[in-house]
Amino acid sequence: MKIAVFSTKPYDQRFLEPAAKEHGHELTFFETRLTADTVGLAEGNDGVCVFVNDQLNHPVMIELAALGARHVALRCAGYNNIDLNAAKKLGVRVVRVPAYSPHAVAEHAVGLILALNRNLHRAYGRVRDGDFRLEGLLGFDLVSRTVGVVGTGRIGWVFAQIVRGFGCRVLAYDTQPRAEGPQAGIEYAPLETVLTQSEIVSLHCPLTPETHHLIDDRAIERMRAGVMIINTSRGAVIDTPAVIRGLKSGKIGHLGLDVYEEEADIFFEDLSDRVLSDDVLARLLTFPNVLITGHQAFFTSDALHSIAETTMSNLSQLERADTCPNELLA
Ligand code: NAD
Repeated sequence: MKIAVFSTKPYDQRFLEPAAKEHGHELTFFETRLTADTVGLAEGNDGVCVFVNDQLNHPVMIELAALGARHVALRCAGYNNIDLNAAKKLGVRVVRVPAYSPHAVAEHAVGLILALNRNLHRAYGRVRDGDFRLEGLLGFDLVSRTVGVVGTGRIGWVFAQIVRGFGCRVLAYDTQPRAEGPQAGIEYAPLETVLTQSEIVSLHCPLTPETHHLIDDRAIERMRAGVMIINTSRGAVIDTPAVIRGLKSGKIGHLGLDVYEEEADIFFEDLSDRVLSDDVLARLLTFPNVLITGHQAFFTSDALHSIAETTMSNLSQLERADTCPNELLA
């Protein structure tokens, strides 16, 4: 199949090209995101391959179908950026990569916890400046701390296992709890209990109307003083101005973000020689107890290899008009 690949970076090309060759697909790479303004680039292709910040809303889906692109291959797990109802109506088949490496994301979430707790991000700069003082770097032992996990799907489950390995108590909330929870040392509880009892809360649920701004002023008010919040799911699960208020009041002790509600025009780009126009992100960056990474949790060679292989295999199944286990249905 001929596929237009949007939001491409050199590393995408490096992993996608060999996989495409093996499956006999022809890829055209575009650096730009897929939006209403760029959708015309898909002309002459059987489908598009997109990532987390491409916009596949109703008008874009109509345009894609009109251009003859009948397939959308998401090279990510989350699918909050596509109008699946529109795709269904237009006869466009949509596939994704539901699990490329839950370990990559879970391990990154744990990395954020360790770095924030032990102030590794600050220690790095200090020591390089010849400042070997410890004042301001005090952390806490993770053993026996209560870690709340919201969403125990593929990533949340791996995350829970890792923190269990640290000797933490794991409290979890999921709309579909796993039967094997208690056996694995994971205590399921209502969201209210998870939020009120946990010293660390890590978010691993998808972005849906129910989880939009799940962490808002009300939720923060109910949390423990000095709580650490980690978000590697989707930015809009957190109401960012609310967490800024929580950080200013001291209620939130640490915040680790790999995702941000308004990341679409910022993340994955080098803006180092420009003035940051997003005041909310700029404010977040002023806090010493906030650590932000630019949607890099998935970014391991294992995950990129798996994403490329699954994406091309998904497209091959669509080409043969086979059923595809990774197809998203409205
Ligand atoms: P998954 O579908 O395997 O698991 C999601 C879990 O959340 C499921 O168990 C589901 O029942 C639960 N859930 C759904 N609605 C909920 C709610 N209202 N409250 C609590 N739990 C709820 O997904 P996954 O592979 O574990 O990925 C989780 C999320 O992580 C994805 O949706 C995606 O947004 C994000 N993600 C981020 C990165 C990154 O690089 N930062 C990479 C991959 C995925």
